[in-house]
Amino acid sequence: MSKDLPKSYNHADYESAIYTRWEASGFFDPDNLPAAEAGLPGEPFTIMLPLPNANAPLHVGHALGLTVQDILTRFARMRGRRALWLPGTDHAGFETQVVFEKKLEKEGTSRFKMTREEFYKACWNFVQENKHLSEQGIRRLGASCDWSRNIFSLDPEIVKVVYETFKKMHADGLIYRGNRICNWCPKHQTGLADLETKYEERIEQFYYFKYGPFVIGTSRPETKFGDKYVVMHPDDKRYAKYKEGDKLNLEWINGPTVATIIKDKAVDMEFGTGVMTITPAHDAVDFEIAERRKLDIEEVIDKRGKLLPIAGEFVGQKIMDARSLIVEKLRAKGLVDHIDDKYTHNVQLCYKCGNLIEPQIVPQWYIKMTASFTDNETKQERPSLRDMAVAALDTKEVEIVTEKFEKIFRHWMANIRDWPISRQIWWGIPIPVKYCKQSLESLPRRQAGKVESQACGQPVVDIENKIDTCVGCGGGVIADPDTFDTWFSSGQWPYATLMASDAKKAAVGQPANDFATYFPTQVMETGWDILFFWVARMVMLSYYRTNKPPFAKVFLHGLVRDKDRQKMSKSKGNVIDPLGVIDMYGTDALRFALIFSTAAGNDIPLAEDKIKGMKHFANKLWNIARYIAALGEPLTTAVPEAKTPADQIILEKLNATIIAVTNNLENFRLHEAAQSLYDFTWHEFADIYIEATKTQLLNSESKNFTIQNLYYILNNVLKLLHPFMPFVTEAIWSELYGQEKLLMVEPWPVTK
Ligand SMILES: [Zn+2]
Ligand SMILES: [Zn+2]
Repeated sequence: MSKDLPKSYNHADYESAIYTRWEASGFFDPDNLPAAEAGLPGEPFTIMLPLPNANAPLHVGHALGLTVQDILTRFARMRGRRALWLPGTDHAGFETQVVFEKKLEKEGTSRFKMTREEFYKACWNFVQENKHLSEQGIRRLGASCDWSRNIFSLDPEIVKVVYETFKKMHADGLIYRGNRICNWCPKHQTGLADLETKYEERIEQFYYFKYGPFVIGTSRPETKFGDKYVVMHPDDKRYAKYKEGDKLNLEWINGPTVATIIKDKAVDMEFGTGVMTITPAHDAVDFEIAERRKLDIEEVIDKRGKLLPIAGEFVGQKIMDARSLIVEKLRAKGLVDHIDDKYTHNVQLCYKCGNLIEPQIVPQWYIKMTASFTDNETKQERPSLRDMAVAALDTKEVEIVTEKFEKIFRHWMANIRDWPISRQIWWGIPIPVKYCKQSLESLPRRQAGKVESQACGQPVVDIENKIDTCVGCGGGVIADPDTFDTWFSSGQWPYATLMASDAKKAAVGQPANDFATYFPTQVMETGWDILFFWVARMVMLSYYRTNKPPFAKVFLHGLVRDKDRQKMSKSKGNVIDPLGVIDMYGTDALRFALIFSTAAGNDIPLAEDKIKGMKHFANKLWNIARYIAALGEPLTTAVPEAKTPADQIILEKLNATIIAVTNNLENFRLHEAAQSLYDFTWHEFADIYIEATKTQLLNSESKNFTIQNLYYILNNVLKLLHPFMPFVTEAIWSELYGQEKLLMVEPWPVTK
């Protein structure tokens, strides 16, 4: 009896119904998977979904990551492993706050016109809406992740794990509060890590001013009001007659001042005149000198980039408006020596808004990256976080699939600096620390160069939010107003999610052994652009907290570009919307086109023509199945038998394809696996073998064997293609064999 498949494959008729069947089967949850049918051990295979940000709809880069991870998960599942792909969403503190503030701006308001609570609530609602949209998008891409374990980075169970880590690090002496100069964005009103800034070459004016008997150079006249130290190299013979500590009376911007001579080796004798005045509150090098030499540190510019009262008549002006006026005033006083108009230098910018970074002194929490420490619980000596991560690569407990990225990773580790983990933003996990209210009120918070809360000892870590009196004076306390850098929580994702999952299960009386079963995870698949932001932090924090690697392999995909290899951006109008493409060509076409263009770590040019081409491939597969189904009874247990040379060749080629695809998938060569499947299906199976069978089928003796072989090959092709094109393969499978058995959990092909 033959079967009639519909004439053509219309993806829209199948995709959502199939996804619903998969989800309803419960097999996305590895605890429900049937015992390994193929005799495989059923060992766990875990992937964490790399946290789509809760602030924007899915883009084509997400589509690529989701496709790669789904392929790896489906492949593992079909090989009998307990495959867990755990989905989650990141609150993405700074990123989300930036997006949400832009939205507020459009609506004619800003966060500075709202209370913190109002802002948080509005942002929460905004995020829930986006989270829902992005989860729907993930489903449409066919992602076989376990929604029963879906988690959000602000879920209380995650926050608890994050807090415990902070508390432990504080007890181990790895966390300190530093009153150091930081990268301050005047627009976003927060400090930023070095990684969150970018550099741009600019040609600007460089000014030479007369400062008493010296000529000093600066690109930033607006910072010079408070300058009262003049620094030179101790070996500079030009200034040998000046001695350390000498005082000089001189005329400066707003009148007479007294300058003190400082001799310091930090000065570059070759730069400018070899003499400089310093502005410790607004320059990292100057700050370092002032700290070391215990010099006065005075703020000149406020956190919004306006001049403070020290600027006299210029008070309240924006620095860029004031600059030329200050130079004019100095010129009128005869203090301008000369101006270089073509000074080329690198300026540091906020990576989000592109505004100039203003170095400011803001107390921040830092994590020590390079200090070894004694574990406060076990009393054991442990290497620094950096050394733990480097050792993980040395021992190959963590392997970065592309060698190029391992080198970059090591280079970055060698140059790592302490990590500032506090952000002056509202959207995020509050830092669980209390300060004595009294000592804070007596010292204006964030005043440059002042240490907070000395009167009543150190700030207290309070992860349960229980402390309301100061242990020192018995007075009130106030909570730290800052939040954690998002990467401090997402850096804990692989273990935090599983620990949180256990906490949720335990709370409702279910057995809770997710962490024990599914950690460490097997693969971390993400874009190379967040290798340091995320991957490196996960490695360090995981060893710190669990003594285990977070994952065995790091597989970094490239960035998706347009067909001309240009970065996709709204302003260029070359953005491919994955859901729009899916509507037109189907999910499988998009997935296969993405994988077809991928080589690990290289950027991916994606053209719509390619997606269209893959829709043809899905149709080709459908037509092959339709042709075979029309020939006779489907034989699920078809065993191949070679009766003709054509049979012989195709079965050999199928075996070779099974070996190649399996091997390539095991080694993350997804595009090569896809290529060999495409070639085999279209050129060997359809073009050659199916054509050859048209004569074989006329012979009544070999007819049944031939049908049997056609089914055997088709079944294997469907299985091999399933991880790549899950919808069309599942659709054909159920047309052929009914809806009871899902292709998704069929055993992976083996050679015969
Ligand atoms: Zn900014
Ligand atoms: Zn106190």
